[in-house]
Amino acid sequence: MIRLKSPEEIDRMRRAGAVVAAVFEKIAPLMQSGVSTYEIDRVAHEEIVRHGAIPSFLDFPGEFSPFPAATCISIDSEVVHGIPSRDRILEDGMIVSVDVGAILEDMHGDAARTYLVGEVDPEIRKLVEETENSFWKGFEQATIGNRIGDISHAVEAHVQAFGYGVIEVLTGHGVGYDLHEDPSVPNFGRKGRGVRLAEGMTLALEPMITLGSPRVQMERDGWTFVTRDGKPASHFENTFAITKQGPIVLTASC
Ligand code: MG
Repeated sequence: MIRLKSPEEIDRMRRAGAVVAAVFEKIAPLMQSGVSTYEIDRVAHEEIVRHGAIPSFLDFPGEFSPFPAATCISIDSEVVHGIPSRDRILEDGMIVSVDVGAILEDMHGDAARTYLVGEVDPEIRKLVEETENSFWKGFEQATIGNRIGDISHAVEAHVQAFGYGVIEVLTGHGVGYDLHEDPSVPNFGRKGRGVRLAEGMTLALEPMITLGSPRVQMERDGWTFVTRDGKPASHFENTFAITKQGPIVLTASC
């Protein structure tokens, strides 16, 4: 069931999303060689709590065990849902995706960024840039009367031009009262297909794009998705609302 949000509910989501944006600002300076993913998560968690919010991902139910941290931090060939750890230390050349969710006033904000650590191979840097660009291509299609397939197709078409792999088993989603609401928002699809977009829909679009094959597998921890061919993957996500004035990003600073 798709839950359309009123302008008042969208305002609450914007405040939750602003907490997520504040976390990204806070952790950006930590993306340096020698910093552990545990430390990044600790700072992010502290920032979420400082705003009176609750981390969306902490204790989120999983296949074997609840998610043990406030953020998902995924390095290089890890696509999403990496578990922060004292043993994972950033090194120059790595790409680090950080997925952050925060609950404020009963609403979730959900977004992800992929950071570069030191000097990154130009081919990999390009992957990160074009993953973000593909988000904005999809976002442009998020207008009343269009369909989910228009968003999905725009993302896919953008990255396919570079020969990148589009992960199909993981998708974006509706978001709001729950972290994952209907509809799902794939990063591939056909124009003019799928659910029709309506005023008050709140969606998280999150391209997960690889330099190689789109095939992924789950690690033994029951959470981390990695590319099967070991090639790097990039991730970019924002929560946004569909309004009469067009789509509005909710995970930005207000
Ligand atoms: Mg998400």
